[in-house]
Amino acid sequence: MNAAYGVVLVSLALALWDLLRIWRHDPPRWRDRLSLGVWAGVATFAAERWAPGWMAVVAWVIAGFCVLGAVVATVLQTVVPSIPVVEEQQLRQRVLAVCGPDGPEATTVGVSSTGFVAVRTRGERLPVMAARLERGCPFCFIEEILTAVGEDAQRAVEQYRGERSRGVNAMAVLTRATTDAGRRRAEILPMTGNRKPFPHAGCRTHALL
Ligand SMILES: [Zn+2]
Repeated sequence: MNAAYGVVLVSLALALWDLLRIWRHDPPRWRDRLSLGVWAGVATFAAERWAPGWMAVVAWVIAGFCVLGAVVATVLQTVVPSIPVVEEQQLRQRVLAVCGPDGPEATTVGVSSTGFVAVRTRGERLPVMAARLERGCPFCFIEEILTAVGEDAQRAVEQYRGERSRGVNAMAVLTRATTDAGRRRAEILPMTGNRKPFPHAGCRTHALL
């Protein structure tokens, strides 16, 4: 009897854990879905077979919730377009192109609360660019852009890093400078919409303590 309780509870906990992993991973991984199916199956089987009736009900409810949650995550993934994953070099070229002398009046770059790099332009209407870096830190990427095109790049980088270390999700607004066509005036401002900072920077400089 006690062993049955243990098996059911552990299996349910593992199924819930898999559900959490499915929701946290973009896109959800098949091995998590498979694992969820197996643990939900083990929990309900063990509960039906060896546990009292009320426990079988609990097992069915939780297992059902997990399976339903996994299905909803999968459906949302198909309906909502996912953010493309790109190489850093590729994204840098694209951002530098919109920050060039012929680019739009102002370009805003920032990191979303889920860690993708968002690029918006003003003046010329270009679609919002959003991409997740294949590897590396998105905040370092923003600093590299600031260094490459900012007028007073060092100050801008320091300010950006300072905001990040205080847990403020900042964005860099790069406005075409009148004096030097190749450089842009860099303003570091708090994000307007996406205020929650992305917690996992993947580098020491931008880790939130
Ligand atoms: Zn970094």
